[in-house]
Amino acid sequence: MVMSTWLQNAKENLLPLSDSNEFMIAKKEWMYVGLMDNEDANFNCELCGHPAIRYEYTIQNRLNQNQMIVGSSCIEKFIDQLAETQDNFYDINNEIVDKSRLDGDKQNYWTDILFRSLENNFSNTEFQKSITEQIKVDGHLTINQAKFLRHFYDKLNDNEQMAFKYIVSIKLRKDKQKEQYTALRGSDKAFIDMLLSPQQRNIINEL
Ligand SMILES: [Zn+2]
Repeated sequence: MVMSTWLQNAKENLLPLSDSNEFMIAKKEWMYVGLMDNEDANFNCELCGHPAIRYEYTIQNRLNQNQMIVGSSCIEKFIDQLAETQDNFYDINNEIVDKSRLDGDKQNYWTDILFRSLENNFSNTEFQKSITEQIKVDGHLTINQAKFLRHFYDKLNDNEQMAFKYIVSIKLRKDKQKEQYTALRGSDKAFIDMLLSPQQRNIINEL
């Protein structure tokens, strides 16, 4: 059987940093540390070599403390790879790490980044605080609420803007919310358009 390119790369990169030189054993030496808050998302995945990864999960060897920074789809493949031999992936507290744990950590990662910048730059007035509270509930804002975040958004760095787009979404179900959309002009419209989901873009195309 031909070995997948991913597996081949993973072996090549993992073995020199592991104690065992057998991949089946070496892969079990590695545990999950977490998702790091890294401002410049310009890493190559150290496990498979995939360039410019967006989320950097850190894994650590429990025997020699070597660390690797790994992309998000790659760490899922690593879990699959362990599952093939009925092995689990564990975190530093010896708890099993599955894909929903990775998703949860990703959600927390973006939440922390966004609410830190809202706290620092968008909490001067009661009105601003009420919008922040609304984002905390479920991330859904009406167009008229979201408009007030445009200047805040423009001043964010790349990572913070990514966090914003990951967390904030627009309410566009009711007629009143659609009316708010048709009243939009210029930069406000461009800003709201950026936050719409593909399904919502279809809806507004029919307005
Ligand atoms: Zn990778």
